[in-house]
Amino acid sequence: MISRKQFIDSLDKKIPNFRINQINDLLFDKTKDSFEQASNLPKDLVQGLNENCGFYSIKNVKIFKSKLDGTFKGLFKDLEGNLFESVLMENSKGNFSICVSSQIGCAMGCTFCATGTMGFIRNLLAEEIVDQYRFWNRFIFENNLEDKRISNVVFMGMGEPLANYANVKECINTWLKYTDLGPTKITVSTVGIIPNLKRLLKDDSWPECKIAISLHSYDPVKRKEIVPTSSPNFHQDIIDWSFAYKDKFPSKSHYITFEYTLIDGINDSKQNAKFLAEFVLKTAFSKINVIPLNEVSGKSFQKVKKNNLQTFKEEVLKRGVDITQRKTRGDDINAACGQLVVNETL
Ligand code: SAH
Ligand code: SF4
Repeated sequence: MISRKQFIDSLDKKIPNFRINQINDLLFDKTKDSFEQASNLPKDLVQGLNENCGFYSIKNVKIFKSKLDGTFKGLFKDLEGNLFESVLMENSKGNFSICVSSQIGCAMGCTFCATGTMGFIRNLLAEEIVDQYRFWNRFIFENNLEDKRISNVVFMGMGEPLANYANVKECINTWLKYTDLGPTKITVSTVGIIPNLKRLLKDDSWPECKIAISLHSYDPVKRKEIVPTSSPNFHQDIIDWSFAYKDKFPSKSHYITFEYTLIDGINDSKQNAKFLAEFVLKTAFSKINVIPLNEVSGKSFQKVKKNNLQTFKEEVLKRGVDITQRKTRGDDINAACGQLVVNETL
């Protein structure tokens, strides 16, 4: 099997745009599950697609369901046979959010993250990311879960989305064209690759999605210890970038989220909270989202203690900075943030 893009690029005659639209309309119709169900495509095109590509570019091999909160985690095979994961979870608005992977593994090696232990395997193609939405949308339809729809997508699965810039961009633009997702319902979470953060500001085809930056520490030395790719000037670069971002996306819904994984004894003191709030106040229109560490087997880091978590949030709030806490989802099936790693063998 080859990718749909490879197949379309291999044809002698270029397919006109209206045909590409027709193919995508079929692909995004959750009631359809084969190319043969197309009513408006020429027979030879249907035959070609059928013989060369799967209706999905990714293959689901297993579904795990959380007993705690009904979160689903899917294990998938990519076009090359590597395994990766993607998550469907209920959100606070009573709909579904999906957490998608952009890469298999990750090269960034953050010390508290399970995905980082896999190293980098490959970038997912745009259609392999696109199809994570298509898969879950069909899954909801087939399992009679349609009282909820996919209202949000977060790039918080495996991988660093800004290290797979072109495919992530193409994927988001495809969703914006063929689904009911609005741009601010899609969040790209990044470890903060400065050149690519700058690149998106100059890129007219970069979608108006939201950005979340994984900060984890206001202190360059401490951040470098837990996020090895961090650069010495990271914090000042982010302050500067935040103002340029606000110029490009001035709407209120484009606030920047700083993600902050709270790790016991590492970045969870009162002092840490004070300095974090002071840092965030120097940036343009930002909020903090704390994530109590999800423990990862084989790692010695521990979750922030309840009291410290409360104090941390109060210390930030009293300085006038918005802080929310991420609800842990799918902890029992290792579907929570930072727990995605493939250790299955098939
Ligand atoms: N590579 C991107 C997106 C994937 S990670 C990024 O780093 O932002 C998604 C979020 O999970 C990030 O904020 C990341 O810091 C966080 N995370 C990683 N490991 C975690 C863990 N063990 N517990 C809680 N959050 C974790
Ligand atoms: Fe990669 Fe994000 Fe995990 Fe860091 S936290 S290793 S950037 S997936």
